[in-house]
Amino acid sequence: MSSRDNFSDTAEGRANPPEIVITESAGKIIITIEEILDYLISRKDLNPDDNLFYFKFREALDLYDLLLEEVLAASEISSVCKTGCKQCCCHWVENVSFVEGAVISRYLKENHPDLVGQITGSFREDADIFDSVCVSADDKIPEHHIFGDESDDRYDLILSCFYQFGRHCALLDKNGRCMVYPVRPFTCRDYFNVRDASACHPEKINDENNATLIVYISDAITEKIEVLHRRFNKVSDDMSLRRLLVRFLKYV
Ligand code: SF4
Ligand code: SF4
Repeated sequence: MSSRDNFSDTAEGRANPPEIVITESAGKIIITIEEILDYLISRKDLNPDDNLFYFKFREALDLYDLLLEEVLAASEISSVCKTGCKQCCCHWVENVSFVEGAVISRYLKENHPDLVGQITGSFREDADIFDSVCVSADDKIPEHHIFGDESDDRYDLILSCFYQFGRHCALLDKNGRCMVYPVRPFTCRDYFNVRDASACHPEKINDENNATLIVYISDAITEKIEVLHRRFNKVSDDMSLRRLLVRFLKYV
């Protein structure tokens, strides 16, 4: 999670990223989120599993949703995203911090304990597929998959290829709703389509209408999450949602 621009157009060169507007009230929300994260950074005695940490972090997440709403409205960005719309959940979601993983896994264990085993199994299968795509990228890429521009780097091709397997995140329920919505990762929160939802289908990854945007609001928030991530994450550099949750959930 490095310093980022306010927008990243995932269909590079096909859309003009809108200007982001931070209103005075959005600025106040950012400051409040920063204060919560600073407090958590200062409390070196707390772990993400501790109640105080967990509920403070959730407070920051709730505020972030308010912030997004405010910023999108002020920037006149109207997304076509709707509840139950789920194709973007086929992405290999990355840049998920240790703290987000810990909070999601606690939320899942508390709210859907009966599904934890099934979800872990599904994420393991996804990770195996992802690994096999990585191997294929070094050797031969399956012909039936559509890839982006040849100048894309190898990792973009791997992400694109995995997306086209159409493996929905196991955290979706049978109605296409995210089961961990209140604590979903920032990577999922920041992702929108501003033109045509049907273009999000994995088969249309290179479609001109695939006007998806990743909205970045605050480097300061990102940097504070990164501080917490570095404090707790001692095992692996892998920050993909599916692998991270296998790590957290396998001890259930
Ligand atoms: S990004 Fe695409 S698939 Fe995801 S909710 Fe928005 S329109 Fe639907
Ligand atoms: S965490 Fe939720 S929003 Fe993110 S990919 Fe999984 S189901 Fe979709």
